[in-house]
Amino acid sequence: MKIICIGRNYAAHAKEMNSAVPTEPVFFFKPDTALLPKRNPFFIPSFSKDVHHELELVVRINRAGKSIEEQFAHRYYNEVSVGIDFTARDLQAECKAKGLPWEKAKAFDGSAPVGDFITLSKTQNIQNIDIKLTKNGEVVQQVNTSQMIFSVNQIISYVSQFVTLKIGDLIFTGTPSGVGPVAINDRLEAYIGEHALLKLNVK
Ligand code: MG
Repeated sequence: MKIICIGRNYAAHAKEMNSAVPTEPVFFFKPDTALLPKRNPFFIPSFSKDVHHELELVVRINRAGKSIEEQFAHRYYNEVSVGIDFTARDLQAECKAKGLPWEKAKAFDGSAPVGDFITLSKTQNIQNIDIKLTKNGEVVQQVNTSQMIFSVNQIISYVSQFVTLKIGDLIFTGTPSGVGPVAINDRLEAYIGEHALLKLNVK
């Protein structure tokens, strides 16, 4: 399986990063070794002094497809969760300054914890889901998925022009504003609505 991550998909986050709002989706990958086994803590890697949390809605692909039209994209998923796209912001800034790929800052082991998945009901609109992240009990990121620049179906259609999607692939759909550093002994909890689907200790 692969993990496809979308960058800059909420205008307020693009602004806080001093990045332009993109005119087409920006995507990159994390390897399967970025997944964090359930109930494992997240260990801050020794190569970064500034690891940030990025709360994201995560979509699990349940059908293989290529060049999927936007109008049919909803047939390729029926489960969602929340995940954290951990980012070594200091390394990412270096990569950006040198015009290099971001993988060193984004794809490291354990950088993609994902919560329990919930099944979307037939009537549930994936573009009207409340997600939030608390750090030590305080809300640090919160958004409704209606605020996405590119919808989940647009993302699936766009990415699948270039890359075949397979069953079990995960799409991290971009972070809202409020990204920030994590420290040893932080406790993170990520929610859809009032359901805490991911609970994580930082070590
Ligand atoms: Mg992200």
